[in-house]
Amino acid sequence: MGGDIGDRKGNSVKRILIGVAAVVVIVVAIVLVRTALVGAPPPLEASPPPISVNSMDVAKHLAAAIRFKTISYGNGVHDDQKNAQLDAFRTWMEQTYPAFHHAATREIIGKSLLFTWKGKNPNEKPILLMAHMDVVPVVPGTAKDWAHDPFRGDIADGFVWGRGAIDDKGCLITLLDAAERLAQSGFTPERTIMFAFGQDEEVGGRQGNGQIAKILAARHVHFAWVLDEGGAIFNEPFPGVQQSVAFMAVAEKGYLTLQLIAHGTGGHSSRPTHDLAIARLSDAVLKVVNHPFASGIDDVQREQFSVLAPYMPFFQKMILSNLWLTGPIVAGMLERNPETAAMMHTTIAPTMISGGVKDNVLPPDATATINFRLHQRDTIQSVIAHVRKVIDDPRVDVRALTETQDEASKVSDLHDANGKFVVAAIRDTFNGIPVAPLVTTGATDSRHYLPIADDVYRLDPFHMGPEDMSRIHGTNERLAIGDIGPAVAFYMRLMQNLK
Ligand SMILES: [Zn+2]
Repeated sequence: MGGDIGDRKGNSVKRILIGVAAVVVIVVAIVLVRTALVGAPPPLEASPPPISVNSMDVAKHLAAAIRFKTISYGNGVHDDQKNAQLDAFRTWMEQTYPAFHHAATREIIGKSLLFTWKGKNPNEKPILLMAHMDVVPVVPGTAKDWAHDPFRGDIADGFVWGRGAIDDKGCLITLLDAAERLAQSGFTPERTIMFAFGQDEEVGGRQGNGQIAKILAARHVHFAWVLDEGGAIFNEPFPGVQQSVAFMAVAEKGYLTLQLIAHGTGGHSSRPTHDLAIARLSDAVLKVVNHPFASGIDDVQREQFSVLAPYMPFFQKMILSNLWLTGPIVAGMLERNPETAAMMHTTIAPTMISGGVKDNVLPPDATATINFRLHQRDTIQSVIAHVRKVIDDPRVDVRALTETQDEASKVSDLHDANGKFVVAAIRDTFNGIPVAPLVTTGATDSRHYLPIADDVYRLDPFHMGPEDMSRIHGTNERLAIGDIGPAVAFYMRLMQNLK
């Protein structure tokens, strides 16, 4: 009997082992088949030769544009100086781009500019091309770290140097040069093209594109698509990927700032109660930070990985083409890097805290400010509800700063007619490079047009290496002269190919 039980045990162990081995073999087979299905990267399409553009002429325009100190400090600081610079910049544009100014109608809205270039077919929805004219300040004390003065507009070593060289005068000038060349040739677009150049993107854009969007909405203008800054052509988009890839942003995160105001019993610090505003506030902030929002690989990232996978070495390809199995590992890796983590969920950033006026007085209130960047999964209302729920204290008020809040944007389609059109212009211009979608973690002025556009895309048509991102809003911002001609060609193609 004892031997029987031993046999049966031995048999069932054997069966379990065979079962496990079979599962492992099946899993390995699926992983390998899925990896193999990714296949080799598609050949780069032979595209027509790029439109020849004398990059140096455009580089000189960009250098001149950088010399206008159109700096946004925010809160009205130095706005008089900035407005005078914007006026001078506008006059310079008139003189530099006469054919475009003749072909298109200009409206001055605040200090921002709206151009309308009437198309042949008034029944087709217009499109909107965007760039902003303002720049961020140079951080005090860092001007000496620049290889070239940030507002001198130097052209040296193959680059145009200065604040705004990329963000966003690079886009603005290449776009204007593209339009000027077409206007000079007597070109009329098939459908109406509008151009919106904002004055205050770096401080929220409410005076510039916020107003333009309202005016256009009142006129019942509705765009097929909008193209603004955001995204870029990354030379090394992923460890192990040697192919440059255009990352076009199809969405941007939302923005919400909440103030937590904790109440307690004020009084003399020699006789404290247990009802302490600062302790209550600290507790509330920790509760919020320790209850993160839902996170994970979303549809945009899945599509991004599927575009990148063919260019990856075998191991990475295997990991990314088997997210059904490796998803949690990949998500974990992305979570460890703040930059990639920010793409996966609504972020929580306590940025300011205040309370009390004297070392021996208990304050009756204390306030903390927390900034949230909303993932598409969450809404302003759901974030506020989450924060209230985790704090769960009636003596902590939660107040939203409504003047700066924005919901996470809708996700635009890369595969509808609009998306295909823009992607084709990118591929035709940049030797057939792959185009992957992206959600930008920063905000752009294009969000003002979300209610009056079918699709909103965001791309800086320039190549960027891993170290170039820190130059934007940082030190030694510069644009390669080699990037200028293709960018002009890209914008020309967009306008010429419109149907
Ligand atoms: Zn910008």
